[in-house]
Amino acid sequence: MNAIESTIQPDKLELIRPLYDSAPNPGESLEIAPGLWWLRLPLSSTLDHINVYVLESKDGWTLVDTGSNTPICRAALETAFSQGALARLPLTHIIGTHYHPDHIGLAGWLVDSPSLRNAPRTERLRQRGAIFQTTRTCWLQARLLQMDDHDLPRDEELKFVQAAGMKGMELAAFHRRAPSDFSSLVTPIPATYQRIQQGDVLSIGQRNWTIHIGNGHAAEHATLWSDDGFVITGDQILPGMSSNLSVHPSEPEADLVSEWLESCDRFAKLATSETVCLPGHNIPFRGVATRCQQLIANQEAALNRLLEHLARPHTAIDCLAAVYRRQLQSYERNTTIAEIYGFLNHLYLRGEIRRELAGDMSYLWYRTKSRNCE
Ligand SMILES: [Zn+2]
Repeated sequence: MNAIESTIQPDKLELIRPLYDSAPNPGESLEIAPGLWWLRLPLSSTLDHINVYVLESKDGWTLVDTGSNTPICRAALETAFSQGALARLPLTHIIGTHYHPDHIGLAGWLVDSPSLRNAPRTERLRQRGAIFQTTRTCWLQARLLQMDDHDLPRDEELKFVQAAGMKGMELAAFHRRAPSDFSSLVTPIPATYQRIQQGDVLSIGQRNWTIHIGNGHAAEHATLWSDDGFVITGDQILPGMSSNLSVHPSEPEADLVSEWLESCDRFAKLATSETVCLPGHNIPFRGVATRCQQLIANQEAALNRLLEHLARPHTAIDCLAAVYRRQLQSYERNTTIAEIYGFLNHLYLRGEIRRELAGDMSYLWYRTKSRNCE
């Protein structure tokens, strides 16, 4: 296989070291370093929490990511910003790392929420509200998804799962399912925003944060690298789990795996052995380069399993067991199908597999050559 050629120096590969044994409770804030705070918000999904980070400047707080539009997330934020250390300044800026609901779901509510601005110091701030900063793609995608709310799956979504090999009762049930809960988990996205992009430097309080863009999990995903060794990674680099790389029916041929591998390799080189990763989920840790290497290796191992399986023709759905090697829960079905698409597209574009459209409109994928001929 044409595995990505990593040029990461071996001496950068430190052990992965968690910074804490446990996380702050909902509504509590933990100061990781002067002017840098960690909050944990509860989620009602299978992923039961999200980490958000609060950056201090003399004028107020910048909140990086927001949680979903749920009563429990709003309550945790209101508690955090009305009590304790965070109550002493107004919330002036909200940064969204990427468009997923748990990361920007409350941006609109926060921008317009006077109760979270804690006695704003100036009339201008009171009138202006907080400023929403994110990448252009994040803002556009979120606005688009919010406007594209629909009750039943569209034709392209049905074709997508049919091409994956969904059939019979499962396909009939898919016709009737609500396609997305994006709108219910996201308050109206602010109509205006400030764009952040690759190479921007945000001066917030005593730190300068450089923006580096990742891809694969979400298009134009912002990560923030401070000049004193912290990196806020959203879902781009996570400990303990791989970020989901779901292909969307709107771009069924997308090769998200290539984008993901390129981002992991680039971020590993940006990190030093002392860089502290502040992830969107799980516990902050050191060992960013090692984690990026693990993520690359995990992807390559999954691709190898898939390639082995495709010695005989299979639909995408027929490949799930070979790639995931565990009993998948019913709620994981659509996500894993979307992710398998990504693996197949990647191998297809590398010329290692081919596909044929079968009579039932599913694609059959198969390897182009015997592995021991390589
Ligand atoms: Zn995400």
